[in-house]
Amino acid sequence: SVRVTGLSKRFGDRTVLNGLDLTIARGEFVALLGRSGSGKSTLLRVLAGLDRDVEGGVEVDGTVSVAFQQPRLLPWRRVWRNVVLGLHAPDADRARAVRALDEVRLAEHADDWPRTLSGGEAQRLSLARALVREPDLLLLDEPFGALDALTRLTMHRLVEDLWRRHSPSVLLVTHDVDEALLLADRVLVLDDGRIVAEHLLGHPRPRRLAEHFDIRARVLT
Ligand code: ATP
Ligand code: MG
Repeated sequence: SVRVTGLSKRFGDRTVLNGLDLTIARGEFVALLGRSGSGKSTLLRVLAGLDRDVEGGVEVDGTVSVAFQQPRLLPWRRVWRNVVLGLHAPDADRARAVRALDEVRLAEHADDWPRTLSGGEAQRLSLARALVREPDLLLLDEPFGALDALTRLTMHRLVEDLWRRHSPSVLLVTHDVDEALLLADRVLVLDDGRIVAEHLLGHPRPRRLAEHFDIRARVLT
C-alpha cells in the first residue's frame, strides 16, 4: 500500500508536485491521468524511491517494480539477462527470464541484443522485467504507449492476469482514458501538482473486462 501526504517536488524554482495526497490500498488498481508535463513520471520516481529530494510524507510498503516510460536497458546484456538483472541466483536463471518473456510474447528475442528491439518490444521487455519480480507495488509509466491495438489488448490481459494471481497494488500512468476505465478500480487526474479529480469505478472488474473483450472480439473478427 501507498500513503503520500503533502508531497511537494521542485526542480529549481519550478514546482511540479504541490502538496499532493495519495493513498493506494493493498491490491488496489489505480490509473493516473494528466496532461504531458503534469508530473506523473516524477511522482512514480518518488514512489519508487529514486528521488528522495522532496517535501512531505511518502510511505510505501513492500517491494516495488517500475516499468519506465523510456525503458532503461543494459545494451551489453542479452534481452533475457535484462529481464532478471539484479535478481539473485537462482532467481536470475534463463528459464525464468524466458517464461516472463513468453508472457509478453518476446520469447524468441531472448538471446537478442536490446538495441535490435523495436520500441514496443523494448516496452514489453520492460514490463516483463517488472512482472518477473512479483512486486507488492507495480508502477507502470505508459507501458503500452508504443503498442498496436492487438498487442495492447494482449498486454492488458497479461497485467490483469498478474493482478489476479498476485494482487499487487498497481499505479498505471496512461493517456488512454479507455484503458484507465477498463483496468482500474479508481481513476485519478493529476493537475497543478495535485490530484484534482477522482473517479471510482462501480462495477466489478471481471464483468467489465469480459464485456470489453467480447466487444473487441466482435470488432476484430
Ligand atoms: P508526460 O505525460 O509527457 O510523460 P509527465 O506528467 O510524466 O509528462 P514529468 O516527466 O513528471 O511529466 O515532468 C514534470 C515536469 O517536471 C516537466 O515540466 C519536466 O520538464 C520537469 N522535470 C522532470 N524531471 C526534471 C529534472 N530532472 N530536472 C528538471 N525538470 C524536470
Ligand atoms: Mg511521463
